[in-house]
Order: sequence, then structure tokens, then C-alpha cells
Amino acid sequence: MKLAERVTNVQPSPTLAVDARANAMRAQGIDVINFGVGQPDFETPVHVRQAAKDAIDKGYTRYTPVDGIPELKKAIVEKFKHDNKLEYALSQVSVNVGGKHSCYLLCQALLNPGDEVIIPAPYWVSFPAMVTLAGGVPVLLPSRQENGFKLTLEDLQAAISPRSRAIIINSPSNPTGTVYNKEELTPLAELAIRQGLIIFSDEIYSSILFDNRTFTSVAALSPDIYNHTVTLNGVSKTYAMTGWRIGYMAGPEDLIKACNKIQSQSTSNPTSISQWASLAALTGPQDEVAANCREFQKRRDYIIKRLLAIPQVTCSTPGGAFYVFPNFSAYYGKKFQSQIIKNSLDLTSYLLDQAQVAVVPGVAFGEDSCLRFSYAVNIEQIETAMNRLDKALAQLK
Ligand code: GLU
Repeated sequence: MKLAERVTNVQPSPTLAVDARANAMRAQGIDVINFGVGQPDFETPVHVRQAAKDAIDKGYTRYTPVDGIPELKKAIVEKFKHDNKLEYALSQVSVNVGGKHSCYLLCQALLNPGDEVIIPAPYWVSFPAMVTLAGGVPVLLPSRQENGFKLTLEDLQAAISPRSRAIIINSPSNPTGTVYNKEELTPLAELAIRQGLIIFSDEIYSSILFDNRTFTSVAALSPDIYNHTVTLNGVSKTYAMTGWRIGYMAGPEDLIKACNKIQSQSTSNPTSISQWASLAALTGPQDEVAANCREFQKRRDYIIKRLLAIPQVTCSTPGGAFYVFPNFSAYYGKKFQSQIIKNSLDLTSYLLDQAQVAVVPGVAFGEDSCLRFSYAVNIEQIETAMNRLDKALAQLK
């Protein structure tokens, strides 16, 4: 069938593809350890699940306002005020079908054909595709591992062109776990807005921070930056609610209104029941969030120790999120029997076949020398996986 060009211009999400492949192998009885997809392995808190059941029983099963129920929007305004020192009016907030959808709507609402969006690499797999689907042009801006994968002012300056419309900042980062501090963010954001860019600040991992770090929201840096920034977040990662599909964003009112218009013509509203559950998540006890974060930090420490013990693997230490992005390029060019491992895709397939360990190839994030491990897997499984990895890598000659 002849399909629209926009379909052929993008690939299916590689993170979801790795997850599907790992799950298919598991269904065949193969004991795969899955570091593929980025979803917390914890359960959604009990009080959140109860709120969803209550919502069904109360009959909250009809359409909601396009931009979300007022109760949830008020809770989001409070969250931004309390956690991020950001003041938003209700009209500046929109609730969407997951954080991915918030970003998708923004691209649809902001970009004209040929408009450029600067995306620091390594980047989350869906950013370039969402820009492309909106007719925009992703401008991929490599960063260096020695630099902790942080964008430099010089690189950003060089990437800005008359067609630049926006920049995506994702701190803590998927896939590197890099966290920018206030001093690093300020000059980057100032330069971006001076050049007329809108900043998409994807803060979906802001509650998963290690080593007593504090989080700085881009929009909180200055009133000028606030006026040109959209802050994106969601309940998926913070409350282990990936399947509930609730993301939200806040920013300049005209841009948010434009996103709402597109939402009204596409999804109508995010799921009513999930919105009530998200209200309970944002306003209920937060102790599980802190406990999950402590658990992720333990896993980070362990997996980093094991990765750095592998000959010739290098890795920077993530400051947040639950990903690690080690460099395995020393293994490229090596052979298993007659099979040459040429790149991150080959190594990922080899590890899945030989070690039954699923990871995502770095090429999907714009950095072929690395592999992404999502350590949403318990420590015992990490240990087993690393033992298998040691063995499989030692077979490469
Ligand atoms: N954001 C997560 C990941 O990177 C979830 C899957 C996706 O949408 O990419 O694995």
C-alpha cells in the first residue's frame, strides 16, 4: 500500500522494539534479562491504584475537559510551585497522553516545514522522529563523553541558524543520566532565548536524582527564560505509571492553547481514570518516590562497578534517571566464530543471542560507540546479567 511520506521518514521506536523482542523471547521460555525499555520495575503505589478503582465506581468514565480535569491541573500547578519554584496559571497547563505525547503536541503546534529543532546527542530516540513527523528538521548536536555528554556553549552557538525554532533540553538525560546544574544551564538557556528559540525542557526524570543533587528547572532560571520555555513532565517514571499514559506540560499560554487545539482534534482528552489516579499520585504520600530513588542509586553504583570492571569499557557516572550509557566501541571489529561485530547494533544482537541480555544500541540515540542499559531490573538480575556479559564478551576475539 502506498503510505504517507511521513511514515517512511521515521522508524518505529527502537526502545519499544527491543522490549518487544525481549518479551517475545521470554514468551518462548528464554530467560532474557531486559535492560531494554525505560520503565520502572516497581508497582504503581496502592493508593494510586485505589484512586483509579474509585474513579470507575464514581462513574468518572466520560470525556473530561480537553486539557485535563481542573483538580489534576491544580495539583500540577502546586507541584511546579513546590518542587520547581515555577508559578503557572491553570491556563498555562495541559495534561496529555504521556510525556511523549506532550512533546509530540508541542512539535505539531510550533513547527512549520523546514523549522529546525536543536537536539543535543545522545538524545532520546523519539525526539528526532517527533520533529520529523511535524515537518521540522532535527539538528543533532553531538556531545563528548569526556565532557560528561554535556552540551557546550560553543557547540550550541555553532548549531543555531536562521531556521532554528527550538531546542530540547532533557536533564536528567535519557540515555546518559547526565544532569546539568544551574551554572551550566543558565548560559545555554540565555543563548537559546537570545537567538529566539523556544526551549522544550523535558524534566520527566527530575525526581530520580543521585548523590543528594538538587534539581534546577530551566524555566526557573530567569523571567525571560520562563517566557520562552515549556516545562514537560509526567507521572510515568516518578510513580511507576508508564502504562497509565499521563504526561503534562506548562508554558506560554498561546502555545499551550495551540497544543490543546490539536489534542481536541486527536485524542479529545487523556483517559479520565488515569487522570484521577495521577491526581492521587501527585497529592498523596511521596515516600515510595524517595525509596525508589534510593534503590535506583544502589543499582547505579553496582552496575557502574561491574561495567568498569569489563576490560576496555568506559562509562561516565549518571547523576539521575535510571540509564547508563557505557562505551563498548573497543569490542567493535572483534569476531565471534565468523561473525564480525561491527557496531552497536551487532553487539546488541550478539549479547541478546549469546547472553540473553537485552540492551538498546547506542546508534538509536545518536552515539554508536555506546549501549544503553536501563537498570529498572533488580540487583540480583543485574549481577546475573553482568556475569553473562563478562562471559560473552570474553568470547570475542
Ligand atoms: N522513554 C522510555 C525509553 O527510553 C520508554 C520507551 C519509549 O517511549 O522510548 O525506553
